[in-house]
Amino acid sequence: MLDMLVVGGGYVGLSVAVAVKQAAPHLDIAVIEAAPDHVWKKDMRASAIIAAATKMLEVFGIWDEIEPEAQPINKMIVTDSRMSDPVRPIFLTFDGEVADGRPFAHMIPNVAMVGALRGLCERLGIEIRHGLSATGLKTGDTSIEVSLSDGSTQQSRLLVACDGVRSTLRDFAGIKTVTWDYGQSGIVTTVEHERPHHGCAEEHFLPSGPFAILPLRNNRSSLVWTERTNDANRLVAADDLVFEEELERRFGHKLGALKVVGAKRAFPLGLTLARSFVAPRFALAGDAAHGIHPISGQGLNLGFKDVAALAETIVEADRLGLDIGAINILERYQSWRRFDTFRMGVTTDVLNRLFSNDTAPIRIARDFGLGIVDRLPGLKSFFIGQAAGTTARDNPRLLSGQTI
Ligand SMILES: Cc1cc2nc3c(=O)[nH]c(=O)nc-3n(C[C@H](O)[C@H](O)[C@H](O)COP(=O)(O)OP(=O)(O)OC[C@H]3O[C@@H](n4cnc5c(N)ncnc54)[C@H](O)[C@@H]3O)c2cc1C
Repeated sequence: MLDMLVVGGGYVGLSVAVAVKQAAPHLDIAVIEAAPDHVWKKDMRASAIIAAATKMLEVFGIWDEIEPEAQPINKMIVTDSRMSDPVRPIFLTFDGEVADGRPFAHMIPNVAMVGALRGLCERLGIEIRHGLSATGLKTGDTSIEVSLSDGSTQQSRLLVACDGVRSTLRDFAGIKTVTWDYGQSGIVTTVEHERPHHGCAEEHFLPSGPFAILPLRNNRSSLVWTERTNDANRLVAADDLVFEEELERRFGHKLGALKVVGAKRAFPLGLTLARSFVAPRFALAGDAAHGIHPISGQGLNLGFKDVAALAETIVEADRLGLDIGAINILERYQSWRRFDTFRMGVTTDVLNRLFSNDTAPIRIARDFGLGIVDRLPGLKSFFIGQAAGTTARDNPRLLSGQTI
């Protein structure tokens, strides 16, 4: 029997396995991942990772390996505009401001982050079983039993479900969600441009949704381009020439000639909040607990905060000789994380509704709000601290750069 079984070997699943094992090496931990081993290497996307989360990667000891691939975001520009506007008025700038002596975020290629986490799992002796899905659950008094797609079963004292926003484990555990679809999809791709971006990220609030340009190393940028779902699917299926022309209308010519160099993919966007994060011997983390709109690039960062809070809860319980799968222990994790998650879910929902429309009074009100934030240094640094995740009072130890 295992002490902890993690289902889902994405960034959140791998991180929770590593965080617990580093602090409590005697615990027997394994990860089950549905995709075959080579699939993660094909992920061409990158994620904006906030300063607090990079502190956790430092504690893991893998930041030095990731940093050469990571592009610091030194500056951020926010505009509220229509595509027909000849000049996009800038309402908010985070110019060179850093939190805690570091950039408030980095753009990290997913492959670099997952590769480093996988290497660390290997060094710590955490087995990752590939090409296996969890197909059922049975909860007992002292253990939980997971049925696997190869017909075998695995017993564990605790199961952590990190199987993404469409979590089947969440369904097996009987946990309901609050869910809605935005009718929007986020097109993700990578572009190469002639001129350097100088670490500047841009978010343009266009009527169909936010259009984000996020800097990568070597004159490249990652795009998260929100459109109504039908339009997004049409654009992704379109010829490269049509796609690049539509892209240029939104991107502008500031960085010179553009070339799409990554695969184009559209991700349907919705809000999914689990009504409970825990059940006896069972905990949800990452997108399995909360899938939010990428408008503020916080989805994975929320997942990393789950990782740090859950690992701290489990390790402290273990040190006190308590049962790590007991519901009263897991409820501590739930009360730590549920409010923050709910608040972020609602904030991204409101932001998306506020900005993804072109109604004149709403435009005036939101531009007035952005203008105020830009002109008041105290308010601005408050928002930067919030965005970097460094000022939260409830930060778990790993997100403050401390070991558990
Ligand atoms: C367009 C877009 C842009 C985004 N940009 C950002 C950003 O810049 N910054 C940020 O912080 N967040 C961003 N996000 C959110 C971020 O991608 C997610 O929050 C993150 O991927 C969640 O990680 P996870 O490990 O919880 O889930 P996932 O990455 O979905 O991983 C789940 C894993 O579980 C496996 N799995 C599923 N079912 C089973 C099963 N039954 N058995 C075994 N394994 C299973 C899957 O194969 C997968 O590997 C963005 C999201 C979108 C859609």
